[in-house]
Amino acid sequence: MNTGDNCDQLRQEVRTWLLENVPAGWRDAMTNVGQDAFVALQRMWFEKLVRAGYATPHWPEGWHGGGRSLSDQKVIFEELARADAPRLILYFVALYHAACTLFECGTAQQREKYLEGILNGQVWCQGFSEPNAGSDLAALRTRAERHGDRYIINGQKIWSTMAQYADYCLLLARTDSSGPPQAGLTYLLLDMRSKGVSVRPISQITGDDEFAEIFFDDVEIPVENRVGAEGDGWAVAQATLASERGLTLVELTQRMRYALPRLVRSMREQGCEDDAVIRRDLGSLVVNIDAACALADQYLTKRIAGAEQVGDASVVKLFYAKTLREFASLGMRIGGLESQYHSGFMRGATQETGHWMLDFMNSYNWSIAGGSNEIQRNIIAERMLGMPREPKSWQVVEGRP
Ligand SMILES: Cc1cc2nc3c(=O)[nH]c(=O)nc-3n(C[C@H](O)[C@H](O)[C@H](O)COP(=O)(O)OP(=O)(O)OC[C@H]3O[C@@H](n4cnc5c(N)ncnc54)[C@H](O)[C@@H]3O)c2cc1C
Repeated sequence: MNTGDNCDQLRQEVRTWLLENVPAGWRDAMTNVGQDAFVALQRMWFEKLVRAGYATPHWPEGWHGGGRSLSDQKVIFEELARADAPRLILYFVALYHAACTLFECGTAQQREKYLEGILNGQVWCQGFSEPNAGSDLAALRTRAERHGDRYIINGQKIWSTMAQYADYCLLLARTDSSGPPQAGLTYLLLDMRSKGVSVRPISQITGDDEFAEIFFDDVEIPVENRVGAEGDGWAVAQATLASERGLTLVELTQRMRYALPRLVRSMREQGCEDDAVIRRDLGSLVVNIDAACALADQYLTKRIAGAEQVGDASVVKLFYAKTLREFASLGMRIGGLESQYHSGFMRGATQETGHWMLDFMNSYNWSIAGGSNEIQRNIIAERMLGMPREPKSWQVVEGRP
């Protein structure tokens, strides 16, 4: 583990680097822009972070930027939040889900084939959820049938973040329907340019289209693109989902803390700094944000010490989702009627942009993504507190995307 002195030194280095490198005015530049401008900014920021070694601190030693301790990674995330840097939304699945799955479960050939591509800017998406398989992921029905040295894929995925930009997809498909649902799943790496793949972006209420449906019509995937053994997809998927556990919440809670001035600015603009109810609710929000930061911090400290327990991540995630909703709701109240006018979307930011209607709508993301609030409550109740299990046998994955 890193010493405090090392952390302080790294913090100073990252802070100085960010001062010089965060693209000025990126928030305005990303408001109501088309895909090309978004992709260009993400790519430019990704390349800078990769060069500086700050995009891949979680990769193993020997890989560019890799081999950093969890405490160092935390420092980098905290400083990114503090500097209000753009989030690497386009590359998140590649850098975390794909890379960590390959490091943990991939073959040497797969690592050699794909990891350089990720460092060179290849975009990945995650194809797990289906129209009737979200919380109950093991119910997925996309078929992968083995024909000699290939799998033939038929079916559909949904809610796949950034799939319309993706070069590759982490695909979870069913190779066997005869046994328990989890046992018949297989994990495959799909080239999104393969024949028979079609991608349809989903228009969101915000005007943005961050996710897409993916359709597979007799799509061929070579057997060498399988990660793990046939039927072991469920176990490999756990590695994918665990890849960023903790760090994302450290980043998001810190970003919420640094977004507080946007609320205060809005209070001044609306002349309600002296409104006793608003002041009370702001005070309560500040306390909850502090608590969310402390919970995320405590969780990571437990992970560093190898003392993580079932349900710990759910507590942080649930509290963050609840506090985020409070943040956006208070913004709407402070902003008054005017703030209920939806003035457009901002790409590559977190959910506290100060465009309150947008933030309010986006705050629902976090009560669904990564496992819905209800699923987190089930995990806490049943697996952490030992309460009776619910009657239905839902298959639940912690830390869903
Ligand atoms: C921002 C965002 C990004 C995403 N990105 C991806 C991605 O890149 N790749 C991908 O594969 N998926 C992605 N998803 C999908 C996400 O994993 C699913 O939306 C999530 O798992 C919920 O599944 P569902 O939408 O099918 O809802 P359902 O599972 O149908 O749930 C509907 C409602 O029923 C409740 N419910 C379900 N089961 C239970 C239960 N057992 N007990 C109590 N209540 C229950 C839920 O809480 C919810 O309120 C993303 C989702 C969001 C919001």
